[in-house]
Amino acid sequence: MIQLRGVSKTVMSGGRPLTILHPLDLTVRSGQFLAVLGPSGSGKSTLLGLVAGLDAPTGGEILIDGVDITKMGEDALAKLRGEKIGFVFQFFHLVPSLTAFENILIPMEIAGRRDATARARQLLGEVGLSDRGHHYPSQLSGGEQQRVAIARALSNDPPIIMADEPTGNLDSTTGKLIMQLLIDVRRERQTTLMLVTHDADLAALADSRLVLRDGRPVEGESRIPLDSARGEPNPESRPDAASRPARLEPTR
Ligand code: ADP
Ligand code: MG
Repeated sequence: MIQLRGVSKTVMSGGRPLTILHPLDLTVRSGQFLAVLGPSGSGKSTLLGLVAGLDAPTGGEILIDGVDITKMGEDALAKLRGEKIGFVFQFFHLVPSLTAFENILIPMEIAGRRDATARARQLLGEVGLSDRGHHYPSQLSGGEQQRVAIARALSNDPPIIMADEPTGNLDSTTGKLIMQLLIDVRRERQTTLMLVTHDADLAALADSRLVLRDGRPVEGESRIPLDSARGEPNPESRPDAASRPARLEPTR
């Protein structure tokens, strides 16, 4: 479970403090799918970066499975990220000098997995790229590179997947296929998914929705379980909602 309590971010901009995320409370239960929406510059990437521990908040607490990550040192954070979070970026962020296969292998080698090679091969198959493992990122299309990035994100079986506009750099047909892959992966593995998207159809499949504007949730457009850490879960966002079919139709 991911819990944010009063999480905010203020940066210095032109010599003045600028608050890019105002104090935010948010709970994402294990296995839930949260869609994060909002115009460019509204704080979506900032939020994901904070939850992934890639950036430190100015205020508040971020608990992942009850542990406050804002109190952790760099090494502990890196370890936690390696174990708990698979991150998929808009611009793929593959290592250009490594093959697809090697890119998937890295996180498992860092984690010291002995089955790394076999798993990398299996993950390549899972994202439909069994025959492309020896290719370098520059030899792959955008959609293929994002498949590799998804396989890499899954390599250590993280309970949480975060994706920041993962189709923002792809054509719409390829984008739909990548989104379908993420939805399928999430359903099969029952992972928590925090997804930044501009796709309203996709957001409609989510258990909850956070719409940001100028670093604040837009009331009325957002549908986030308030204080759902206590009391009854929202009936619409039960864990078994994860098992309902959520197929995306290709665009016409
Ligand atoms: P989004 O992902 O919704 O497009 P971001 O989270 O990337 O938005 O950024 C939110 C706002 O904060 C933007 O106006 C951006 O320019 C600003 N911002 C982000 N990081 C910094 C920083 N380190 N210094 C100054 N401004 C920043
Ligand atoms: Mg962004």
